[in-house]
Parts: sequence; C-alpha cells; structure tokens
Amino acid sequence: MSIDALHDAVRKAADIVSGSRYLIAFTGAGISADSGMPTFRGEGGLWGSYDERHLELGFFTREPATAWETIRRIFYAFTMDAKPNDAHLCLARWERDGLLRLIVTQNIDGLHGRAGSKAVAEFHGSCDDLVCTRCGGRTPATPELVALRPPRCACGGVYKPGFTFFGEGIPPVAYATSFEAAREADACVVIGSTGSVYPAASIPRLVKSRGGLVVEINPEPSEFTDTISDVFIPLGAADAMRRIDAALAVRRRA
Ligand SMILES: [Zn+2]
Repeated sequence: MSIDALHDAVRKAADIVSGSRYLIAFTGAGISADSGMPTFRGEGGLWGSYDERHLELGFFTREPATAWETIRRIFYAFTMDAKPNDAHLCLARWERDGLLRLIVTQNIDGLHGRAGSKAVAEFHGSCDDLVCTRCGGRTPATPELVALRPPRCACGGVYKPGFTFFGEGIPPVAYATSFEAAREADACVVIGSTGSVYPAASIPRLVKSRGGLVVEINPEPSEFTDTISDVFIPLGAADAMRRIDAALAVRRRA
C-alpha cells in the first residue's frame, strides 16, 4: 500500500469511528503481539512446542498436575508480566471519551482490563481468574497459587484457569453481551484477528450484515479483508491505532 493510500485508509477509519453511533471493537492475538505475547498458531507458535491435549478438559481432570505444568509455562509465564500497549490504551481512552461501547476480545491475557477498559466481553474467558472445578468458586490467579501443582481451592477441588478449554462452551454472559452489542452496532474496529475462529469471528460479520461499517487493522490480509472490511489498514495494532487516534485528535481540535 502506498503512503497516500495508507493516509487515505487512516482518514476513512477515523471518519467511521467519529461518525458512529454505536462502536464496538473486536480484538485477537495480534493486538497483544506489541506487548510481547507469543502467538499460539502459525510459524514459531507456542502450540508447536507443547501438547494441545493438555488443554482438553478430559486430560486436565485426569492429570491436573501435568496439565498445570504446561498451562503455567504457556500462559502464566507471559501474561503475568505483560503490559498493555498503545492499541489497548487507545481503546480504553475511547471508552472513557464515550466513543466506544464494548470490546469483544478473543484474548485471555487480561490486557484490556489492565489498560483500564471496563466494558470488555472476554469471549474465551481470561487468565486473570481461577475457577474451582468442584464448587465453582473464583479467585484471582496470583503467582503463589499458579506456582502450585496443581492449585487447589479451600474445598479441596482443583482450580482450572478461567479461560475456555478445547471442547468447552463460550462463557454465556460474554456470549450474550457480544451478540447483543453486535446487533446494535453501526461500526466495528477489528484489531489483530484473522477471523478463522468461530463463533467469535461471526461478531464483526453480524455488524456488517446489519448495515454497519468495518475497519480492519491487521499486518496481513485476513478472512475479513475481502469479505466484510470497508477499510483495511495493513499495520501492526499499536502503530495503526496511534495513527487513527491522531486523526481523531486533529478533528477534536478543529
Ligand atoms: Zn472449591
């Protein structure tokens, strides 16, 4: 994309954001790449080095200590120290400014919350909490608890991370909140998602099917690009969001 075309795309994205009545964001692993989070799939992805079965409920129930060893190394070694980047921080500011209604995220890293966003639907749950597999009680995932093999609740039950395992359903509240917002929305900013994981990927598609506009930020074209994106910005999340935010700030001053 030429420099002129890029400027044009950023300007159009800012038009859509500032002209929207009900804006939502849809985020995936790409938004956290600038925070140093490794990706799970693709070249050099984490799944290459670990056994995916350790994140199936059946295996977890039979061998919680082994499963937790993998879970700790894959997830908590990275998420505990990760910090939100400018893309997370921009979205949090847009919410405070009344510009953004909801973030639907596929990420489990908790970085939207750490950036200060309040309206977040964590479509695949979150690392931040542990859930007891016996009594259903929830507790924050502290480094002390996560270091245990396996962490246990006061009731004696094994704690499971608060994110969705393979074969588990989408958390019902996050699911309902996401689809309700997608039906209301007249614009959606997609950031760092390839659109290949369902049902999450149907959120931006629903916005589009009801006449809404879609801005897409991804370094490479995705399954959204030629199907639903009205504007495609081929940049990393933090870089693209800084540019759109700067275009919005110019308008606010004008
Ligand atoms: Zn319990």
